Amino acid sequence: MSQISCQGATSITSFAVFLCDKIEPALRKAVFERMAKHIAEDMKNQFPDFRGNRANLEVCILRYLAEQENFDDFKKYLTSPKQFFEEYIERRVKSHLDGNGRLKEFLDSSLNVLYGNILPAVSLSTKIVKDRKDREDKISLWLDEFCRELAEVINLPRSELKGIEHQEVTDIEFLSSAMAKSLTDLRNRLMKELADADLSSFSRQPHTILAEHFSGCWEKCRFCGAVCSNTMQNHDGDHQVVFHRPQALTGFKWHGTDHLVIDICSSLVASDCTFRFHDDQQWTPYRTYRDAGPPVSTWRILPDSSMQAYWKWFVSHFRTQLEDLYNKKFQGKGEIPEAWQRITKQEALSELDRL
Ligand SMILES: [Zn+2]
Ligand SMILES: [Zn+2]
Repeated sequence: MSQISCQGATSITSFAVFLCDKIEPALRKAVFERMAKHIAEDMKNQFPDFRGNRANLEVCILRYLAEQENFDDFKKYLTSPKQFFEEYIERRVKSHLDGNGRLKEFLDSSLNVLYGNILPAVSLSTKIVKDRKDREDKISLWLDEFCRELAEVINLPRSELKGIEHQEVTDIEFLSSAMAKSLTDLRNRLMKELADADLSSFSRQPHTILAEHFSGCWEKCRFCGAVCSNTMQNHDGDHQVVFHRPQALTGFKWHGTDHLVIDICSSLVASDCTFRFHDDQQWTPYRTYRDAGPPVSTWRILPDSSMQAYWKWFVSHFRTQLEDLYNKKFQGKGEIPEAWQRITKQEALSELDRL
């Protein structure tokens, strides 16, 4: 009698070990997924930059750029805004997680929550199956219950456990305690392994999840480089932006000179000026700019002469760098007005906040 019971115990123990081996990768995956979402949420709660929409984040980025006063950063932002946004978010997430064992805290809390769901699933499945005197295939029934209970927690497909469902286990209470022991071992193993985890351990990075909140249309105005403010990717209708920028930011110059254009697109569409992008292109009047075809024909640019103080400050402050970058000058019609040069960084930033 004692020998039979001993054999039974061995098979129950190996069943529990087998099942925990199946749970392990699913649990590890769930821990990282949960942690990544949790970190993204935490960033939104902790930092005003990430609390609002993309327009709000853009203001924060413009503020950051002005504070740093690094022309190379501006250049990156102006040429590849989407990439700059993503890198900005990534940098902020990394510095938030750096030091203080924050990553470890997120890890512990995710593992605790998920582990805290598995143990009760064992008890509940055991409780349900124990009372089913009518069924012989108790293990199969137990696995059905167990997988159903965990469906929301980890990805443990019932079909992958077919190999062990015919085990003859009569002592279902013992199964429960064998599972509890195996799960504790599993938890300790994961704790130890994940202590060395860093951001490279995630299959989906927290900053990627956070960046998705700020996706939308990234189409740039062909004239000035301002980014369409529509929050939908591939949206219907025209691209639009509230504020266009001095065209010097993309190196636009007046014909027949090396003088940069400091005017904004929304002023020019109300002027008698004409434009072309290449030497072999026809001239198009700004008033009927859509005649030039795509990409400008897909933009709605309404006449509006208001220009943000921020770009007036930027052009004045980085005049030399812009001239060197495009090998052109702020002269003639591109002369920077006296009034622009008097705008302080603080005034430019205060106006951004008001808008
Ligand atoms: Zn524009
Ligand atoms: Zn758009």
